[in-house]
Amino acid sequence: MNIKILGNGGAINDGLPYNAFVINGTLLCETPPDIMLSIHNNSIDLHSINTIYISHLHGDHIFGLPFLILSAFYLNVRTEKTLSFKILGPEGLERMSENLLDAAFTSNHPCLKWMKEFCTFLEITEMSRPDLVDGFQTSIFKLDHLIETYGFSLAHEVESVDFAYVADTRWCESLRAVLNNKPRVVLIDLNGEDNDHKRVHLSIGDLMRKAIPLTGRQTKYFGTHLRKEFHTTVSCVNCARPGMDINL
Ligand SMILES: [Zn+2]
Ligand SMILES: [Zn+2]
Repeated sequence: MNIKILGNGGAINDGLPYNAFVINGTLLCETPPDIMLSIHNNSIDLHSINTIYISHLHGDHIFGLPFLILSAFYLNVRTEKTLSFKILGPEGLERMSENLLDAAFTSNHPCLKWMKEFCTFLEITEMSRPDLVDGFQTSIFKLDHLIETYGFSLAHEVESVDFAYVADTRWCESLRAVLNNKPRVVLIDLNGEDNDHKRVHLSIGDLMRKAIPLTGRQTKYFGTHLRKEFHTTVSCVNCARPGMDINL
């Protein structure tokens, strides 16, 4: 499995490209406002993307979708190679996607018709078992965020979790359950700091006190959705950086 980090920034950050990544060249996770910039900067071919996962409907995760759809629409017209996407996210995803395209380009623009014809929307819950990446079983888990938000894990064998994506969240029971499976790699929201007045996101302190005691140090954590990049001396905790390839 290859995880290509496109961006590592949270909603407010010090100039980082916003949080997004691609798995095995086919699954794009999150469509933040700068997604097309990140796709070009990392030489991602939109033709190879067949699935798009959006963890929740906050703007830093979905406001780039109209530009991605517009690019796919024009690629389709220019190259006559048909692109199509399966787009997954929480309830309200399809309606919000249509509203965003309408707001961005008006309902007369043919890219809205293109999206309705070539994109399939799947609104998920924690009961969903969608196919995200060939050869891997997907589990969806609910996170504790301001609005309905889901993370996912991927496993190629029963009881051996390869990868977990923990989108925006505070510490919660479903996260504990996921980490109990000792995923090999965890890409995780580290937007929080221990002295935050209101705890909305996880912090490195949460990893040290709660997560690593569950997983041991064989689980590798990559912090993303950051305010700013960080360094740590803890060997199993890394800062995800744009352009980084995580191979497992
Ligand atoms: Zn966010
Ligand atoms: Zn959010």
